[in-house]
Amino acid sequence: MPFRYNHVSMTEPPSNTADTVTVEFTVGIGDGRFKATAIVPGGQTNLTQILPVLQSLDNSFIEGVTSQLADAGRFVSCKAGCGACCRQMVPLTIFEAEALATWIRTLPEARQQELAERFHQALLKISTAGLIDRMVDETWFLDNDTASKLSLDYLYARVPCPFLENESCSIHPIRPLVCREYLVTSAPEHCYDPAILQVDPVELPLRFSRILNAIGAELEHETRGWIPLLFLFAWMKADVHPGEAVAGAGPQVLYEFVKRIDQGKPVALRAQQSPENEPPAQD
Ligand code: SF4
Repeated sequence: MPFRYNHVSMTEPPSNTADTVTVEFTVGIGDGRFKATAIVPGGQTNLTQILPVLQSLDNSFIEGVTSQLADAGRFVSCKAGCGACCRQMVPLTIFEAEALATWIRTLPEARQQELAERFHQALLKISTAGLIDRMVDETWFLDNDTASKLSLDYLYARVPCPFLENESCSIHPIRPLVCREYLVTSAPEHCYDPAILQVDPVELPLRFSRILNAIGAELEHETRGWIPLLFLFAWMKADVHPGEAVAGAGPQVLYEFVKRIDQGKPVALRAQQSPENEPPAQD
């Protein structure tokens, strides 16, 4: 791995209640530093509501890493129109599930029904492939062999993500963090058959999706803190709001997220989960 995350810092959250607060965010990577500015609400918000800030920071961070990779002669081959990885199981953090649920409820009724039908059809195909029972088992991802086998079986079921349209992501600006963080430098066609062809993923030194997974797991006490994206419409029926558990003024909420990065091993917040046992899909 060429670049290692070594520390993160953020300007102290101010106590004022201005409409917006600008926060400086710095991550040390190897000998270099990644710096970004985040504008967060000054007033009351929660972890789900500041997802756009996290998405923007994640984008900037990924751009910084891929730019360093390009300087080293490695180029990302992912591009619009290639949806090979969109047949994988997507581990969606519960905060992103909440945000997507809120967004879906704002869509015209006809579009909501169209999406609900697509999710339903995709679930039927996954069920026909005999994968549903394995996916609902809360422990499958704790064992590497079981996780790898399920991930490959899921991919080879060739069920596209319901948000995939014309091989492009129809929710690109608000797509899950894990989708942003899955990039490869190998030939795109290799992603269709990773059991046979070598896939070279970009090894990001820091994954925002894992930090949200870890916070979700903390909240849910011993469950995984994420759901397979395909379960989104079923999850929506519970009408739960996990983001409210991490609420406060914008800078404080962002600081709750950044604090976990600064602890260095965000996945260790899960008692039974080691970094090697992270959700394998999109990884
Ligand atoms: S959300 Fe978008 S990027 Fe992620 S798997 Fe679905 S179509 Fe692909």
